Amino acid sequence: MLPDELEIRKIALRNAYLHEGRADLGSVINKIMGEYPEARTKGREVSALVSSVVKEINSRDKQKVMDEAVSLIPELAVKEKHVQEHRLPDLEDVNGEVRMRLAPSPSGPLHVGHSRMAILNDEYVKRYGGKLFLRIEDTNPSNIDLDSYHLIPEDLEWLDVKVHEIVIQSKRMDLYYKEARRLIEMGKMYICECSQADFKNYKLNSMACPHRERAPETNMEAFEKMISGAFRKGDVSAVVKTDLNHPNPSIRDWIAFRVKEETHPLTGRTYFAYPMMNFSVAVDDHYLELTHVIRGKDHLNNTEKQSYIFTYMKWIKPHYYHYGLVHIPGALLKTSLIKKGIRDGTYSGWSDIRLQTLLAMKKRGYRPDTFRKYWVNSGMREIDSEFSWEIFNSINKEFVDQHAKRLWFVPDPVRLRIVGGWDMNSKAPFHPGNPDEGERVYHLGAEPEIYIPGKDWLTIADKEKFRLKDLCNVIRKDNGIIYADNSHEDLKKIRILQWSPADSQDFSVERPDGTVDNGKIEPLFSKVKGVSQFERYGYVNLDLERKKGYFLHK
Ligand code: GLU
Repeated sequence: MLPDELEIRKIALRNAYLHEGRADLGSVINKIMGEYPEARTKGREVSALVSSVVKEINSRDKQKVMDEAVSLIPELAVKEKHVQEHRLPDLEDVNGEVRMRLAPSPSGPLHVGHSRMAILNDEYVKRYGGKLFLRIEDTNPSNIDLDSYHLIPEDLEWLDVKVHEIVIQSKRMDLYYKEARRLIEMGKMYICECSQADFKNYKLNSMACPHRERAPETNMEAFEKMISGAFRKGDVSAVVKTDLNHPNPSIRDWIAFRVKEETHPLTGRTYFAYPMMNFSVAVDDHYLELTHVIRGKDHLNNTEKQSYIFTYMKWIKPHYYHYGLVHIPGALLKTSLIKKGIRDGTYSGWSDIRLQTLLAMKKRGYRPDTFRKYWVNSGMREIDSEFSWEIFNSINKEFVDQHAKRLWFVPDPVRLRIVGGWDMNSKAPFHPGNPDEGERVYHLGAEPEIYIPGKDWLTIADKEKFRLKDLCNVIRKDNGIIYADNSHEDLKKIRILQWSPADSQDFSVERPDGTVDNGKIEPLFSKVKGVSQFERYGYVNLDLERKKGYFLHK
């Protein structure tokens, strides 16, 4: 059955509805070809009809198109709610512009998990106007990767996250010391000389350690010694007083400064006492005059710890939002483990495609818009959830498909001759729905040799008929020879195989599971750039120089 004009119109309108009033010709054609297999045999005719319907729709006022879509396809009205839910909720108490921040540690470049906080914060600063800070949290010298000082801003730029100012915490040490001294004067911070185990024990039992009630002057003296390098690692720490009876032991008196003996990659051996995250985060969130802080639920306890500093200092707190945690299946996101893997040669670097760093995902052909759409759609919900690669990939497919040329790639190839038949040519568009992408023509001559996938060949029975896509029907006979077959019987049910011409080139595809598919690719592949769709295989990002590609997704 072929779709009638009304059916084509419905499919086009549905597509337009999902894209704010504009239909995408390529996706509409794909959808029709998928739903009506017969339409494929009349490709040209159907494409021309679809193209005129889409042209007409796209020439009209967007709102009118949306209205017509809903009246013709009522269930879209239900979906509408769904779409609206996908807008991020407004922030509370916005007076004019907002000031927000991204606060990664420079332990490595960003990965798919980080992209969420980057995009959510960026969305709001773009919505309300204001300033987005990139604050590099490098006050733990033992956990710094020097390259990430430039890799992180580059990752953000690729994600189209607009950073207005970069703040590097290791350059603000004097500010942290100044605020620590104020707390000591207030009697809200003390220098504890207990061993780690003893300190923990006191806290667990809601007891004050022997140093808690020392006079501010004694603490100040100890703090000055601490920052001048008079103590060794583990000897002392500066502690913020909270509530020893707090039901959560981790919130009882927490450590704000520690002695570190490592050399800091930026400041060398200038500093010996380093602020812990909760202290520097609170001080900076105040001094950068942040209005709203968006971070994961894993920071809920930290928010409470930090609130003591705000209260003691009489600072106004920003609004905090904590989104639920997302488990990303199959992703290695612990930078220390990735780094170890790079060091011991397991991974070739941060962009190794087995990883889910933004560098690796970019190399495979993921589009920055995909990250944005996915995270905006997931919103700011507080419940924990599971990341869906299936949805993520289908969003990415929408973005790449329109310009992904179709290429003929034959993995694990078997070379065969087509015996009998005629002078053969093959001609096919590079994109079934997008004639602008051009077409290829191969003159194969009589009895040409071709390649087909080894896996397919193994499953073809003697005397079985099958079709070589865009070339001809063949029949397997005589122990592995194929014969051209131009009989006109109904061959709808036969299998269609991808093939490539005899002068195809060697090509390999690296897959994210670490395997490699070696094969042959059609000669004209060198004219194609970026992400293409290998027929019957999947989307691949081409690296022409190295005659290989990286598998993106199905
Ligand atoms: N550098 C901290 C982190 O990456 C900061 C978190 C925050 O306060 O948002 O976990």
